[in-house]
Amino acid sequence: MATKITDFSKLCVHTLTTKPWNLSECVEYYSSAGIQGITIWRNVLENQNLKDAKRILDDHNMDVVSLARGGFFPSIHKGKRAESIDDNLLAIEQAAAVGAPVIVLVCGADGGQSLEKSREQIKEGIIKILPVAKAAGVKLAIEPLHPMYAGDRSAINTLAQANDVVEEINSDFVGIAVDVYHLWWDNNLKQEIKRCGANNNLFAFHVCDWNVPTSDFLNDRGLMGNGCINVQEIRGWVEETGFNGYNEVEIFSDKYWATNQFDYLEKIKNAYLNYT
Ligand code: ZN
Repeated sequence: MATKITDFSKLCVHTLTTKPWNLSECVEYYSSAGIQGITIWRNVLENQNLKDAKRILDDHNMDVVSLARGGFFPSIHKGKRAESIDDNLLAIEQAAAVGAPVIVLVCGADGGQSLEKSREQIKEGIIKILPVAKAAGVKLAIEPLHPMYAGDRSAINTLAQANDVVEEINSDFVGIAVDVYHLWWDNNLKQEIKRCGANNNLFAFHVCDWNVPTSDFLNDRGLMGNGCINVQEIRGWVEETGFNGYNEVEIFSDKYWATNQFDYLEKIKNAYLNYT
């Protein structure tokens, strides 16, 4: 059983959750709302001086939980695989500059080749960037994605597959981000979370909900408590492993992005206290 959440000390919000806000707005408004955890999506770092970004974060006492996202390693084209390595090296630089201890990897897939081949290229890509990540003190977290994304976004679709890959790589700097949206349906989830934690590979925990019916497979995520995922039960399994990091609210929603973001942030806080 998950312990009851009574305050916001473990609440982290992804900047993409409040997509209409830029980095300064996210920092200022999260902080005024009593939220100190932030996962930074790289879109808010575009045209943003990284030293200024770090100063804004420090001025508001923000705890940077992760940088999202790196990955997209596989391609049938060699040139594209090389480009992806460069982009991941840039992500490591950005993470180090803003003080993010972890980069979330959306690993990628190329529908022009087998999932096995894509998984092989994911492993190769991670091994290639690993020395740079280590030198920068930045960890890499593979996020297994729901199988509906297996054709283009990730060939790693279950926690078991992610556990296999990180155990093969076997580095303190490579672990996993568990996201309830992607993994809730898996009947092996409890045991795979246990396995992940037992090997010290559980780096991050993302929450939202699965709307029923869902109108868009990317941008119709729900607030915790509004869909079919038992977030509290999954959080309980995560905490049983000894994980005591942040609960990261990651909601992509055209519906909520079109509303007043201050009201939406209050809804997030309420859903966090009562349904997470
Ligand atoms: Zn996630």
